[in-house]
Amino acid sequence: MYRIRFHGRGGQGVKTAAQVLGTAFFAAGFEVQDAPRYGAERRGAPIFAYVRAARAPIHERGVIARPDLAVVADETLVPVPAAGVLQGLAERTVLLINSTESAATWRDRLKLTGPVLTLPVAAEATDRAELPFIGAACAGAAARLVGVIVRDALAQAIREEVGKLGATALERSLAQALAAYDAMAPHAGVVREAGEISALDYAPPEWIDVPTEDVRIAAPDIHGALTSERANTGLWRTLRPVIDYDRCNRCSWVCSTFCPDSAIKVEADHTPRIDYDHCKGCMVCVAICPPHAIRAVPERAKETA
Ligand code: SF4
Ligand code: SF4
Repeated sequence: MYRIRFHGRGGQGVKTAAQVLGTAFFAAGFEVQDAPRYGAERRGAPIFAYVRAARAPIHERGVIARPDLAVVADETLVPVPAAGVLQGLAERTVLLINSTESAATWRDRLKLTGPVLTLPVAAEATDRAELPFIGAACAGAAARLVGVIVRDALAQAIREEVGKLGATALERSLAQALAAYDAMAPHAGVVREAGEISALDYAPPEWIDVPTEDVRIAAPDIHGALTSERANTGLWRTLRPVIDYDRCNRCSWVCSTFCPDSAIKVEADHTPRIDYDHCKGCMVCVAICPPHAIRAVPERAKETA
């Protein structure tokens, strides 16, 4: 069975990448599962999707803990713990990262001994949450790396899964997917199928199993109050709001009131200050500031903002 995990940010087409690869596997005669996994978070938040493909009915369920191939659509996710990009990587797992840096650099940086490849597409965009058609490129690369999907099957899968988005999206997705497929030719078949996972290898998850008890005593009591600020949600940001204090008229309430994360504090002299540890980069403040005193800056350009 092939077990493949795609990592990206909401809005980058990771869910579609899994659908495309699943459809292409199906056309190649495989039994397939594909599913995305994300919460109620907004665009830009880390998400993942996974694909299982086997030559026999698939009885495994749930997220893939030990992938044969992990595809990272956005390299900025690698250091984000919540993204779980490196979770369960084994010596044999192939790691493919969309990055302009070399595979050797990533291997050294992450202290990995297994195969690492890079796919340098869409190097930098205005907004990383909108890396154009990166999902299609990831699907195309993955299709070539598994070595059992022919080019025409990939193209047909793109048509089936992306065609509904219109002719332009289809045309650009096809171009990206097929270019990535061709670029990965030297590594065709590098991803190897793994056998069934034995129940004897089962490792308990990192959560606490609560015993089944009468609901009157089993309902959780939360004793740790005010802990949400420990979640460093600023790591999710792809765009950074920057206040131009020459334009800000210290209206003192608009941006701080509308910020859904209470990440803008107003000081005693009515000056707004953004808490970048917790600002998720939703850009609501940019949209609603009356004198347009807040602008959006790509996160990677923050040093020059
Ligand atoms: S909404 Fe705009 S003008 Fe008002 S305090 Fe915020 S940045 Fe300043
Ligand atoms: S972008 Fe603005 S509104 Fe959104 S979380 Fe950050 S500070 Fe709040």
